[in-house]
Amino acid sequence: MIRYKFFFLVLITTLVGCTRHKTTAEAQEVNPTVTVATFNGDSAYAYCQKQVDFGPRVPESNAHRQCAEWIINTCKRLGAQVSIQQAPVTLADGKKINCKNIISSITGTDSLHKVVVMAHYDTRPWADQDPNTNRREEPILGANDGASGVAIMLEMLRNTTGKDKSIDFVFVDVEDMGKRNSDKDWCLGSELWSQWAKESGYHADYGILLDMVGAEGATFAKEAYSMRYAPAVTSGIWHLAKQIGHGDIFRETTLGAITDDHEKVNLIAGIPMADVIQYDEHGFGYYWHTHADDMRNISTQTLQAVGETVLTYIMTH
Ligand SMILES: [Zn+2]
Repeated sequence: MIRYKFFFLVLITTLVGCTRHKTTAEAQEVNPTVTVATFNGDSAYAYCQKQVDFGPRVPESNAHRQCAEWIINTCKRLGAQVSIQQAPVTLADGKKINCKNIISSITGTDSLHKVVVMAHYDTRPWADQDPNTNRREEPILGANDGASGVAIMLEMLRNTTGKDKSIDFVFVDVEDMGKRNSDKDWCLGSELWSQWAKESGYHADYGILLDMVGAEGATFAKEAYSMRYAPAVTSGIWHLAKQIGHGDIFRETTLGAITDDHEKVNLIAGIPMADVIQYDEHGFGYYWHTHADDMRNISTQTLQAVGETVLTYIMTH
């Protein structure tokens, strides 16, 4: 993703919490009564590398097809029930794109309550933020913008089979085809899934979106739509992060609303979904929508911190 909706709000919502690095006080704010879920950052890193090795996963490309097959096979191997939602979606210029969402379900002993976790697996066809104007028409590798969210979901899935929680991991397609400075063509896969969810009466207690969750030095502010439509889950994740020692990267600051898949899920499906996305007063990372979004940008520590925070939240709520 993404584009900013109300970036000016940043100026009035960032009065606190500019410290990026863990202080001694923050490091000691660990609640020993919380059992941190098992999550392996090295495993998540390997899942990220695997996707990047396919090359840019632009919808309808060979690399995209191969990556989709790999996600499906990996989920099945890890014990999930996999279903595919496939349909054409139409871009603003009339072009149709074949959209393939992958839904991998873990049914736990508690089948009455369900959580939905989402990330996009497609990558952007253009590097429109790249400083080299000659390479802006080339597709990006999307190590962070795409692969990192999928990687954390797969590692979460690996650690949730056979437990009590029922979780739908939704790998959405066609997220990143929006034009720069335009509202159109973003998040078409999550829109398709959300329409299906609404029409079929699908229910989940809450949702969590993972987007750009693996970069070195990333910090995560709360995002305004998440706080408006999913305040309990958003505040809950950030509170838990502080309890288990990740208050340095999950910052107690709310910044302006952004276009991302959670918007479709909140507004169309009516499921309160929080967006966990690298986001600070400067916007997204320097690599965002550039050719610098490669594996050099990915940190096992960031994957570990986000993965164990989100998974611990799900296992305890
Ligand atoms: Zn993007």
